[in-house]
Amino acid sequence: MAAACCDILEKFGGEEARFISGDHWVVQVRPKQATLGASVLLLRRHATSLAGLSEAELIGFGRAVDELERRLRSAFDYDKINYLMLMMVDPHLHFHVLPRYAKTRSFAGFEWPDPGWPKPPDLQRGLEDPRALEAVRRALGTTS
Ligand SMILES: [Zn+2]
Repeated sequence: MAAACCDILEKFGGEEARFISGDHWVVQVRPKQATLGASVLLLRRHATSLAGLSEAELIGFGRAVDELERRLRSAFDYDKINYLMLMMVDPHLHFHVLPRYAKTRSFAGFEWPDPGWPKPPDLQRGLEDPRALEAVRRALGTTS
């Protein structure tokens, strides 16, 4: 485990939300589900720029992305996928990963629209119900 830097891993749900745990990167269910399966891909180390990553971190990034997309595809069969590296609030290197859907989906008893489609995702909206988050985590955590 990396030493604690800022509290970003906890802010985005901590271990309870985590479904991919690599040496350098982790992936967690995004606490606000702007779209079905919205995730956060976080570097364990505190870095503030995409530049300056080590070779091992870059290789780990590729592996985490492959694994994440495989799981999202298998669980939710998304239409497109968006990676947003904003870091306007939290400087710690992370990506918001938003599966995109042309049509509203139903999953775990909830309706999951993609109100921004086909434009950029609307990050202000999204499900925050703990039952919805747990259902997504379970779907992504048990997909193989
Ligand atoms: Zn940090």
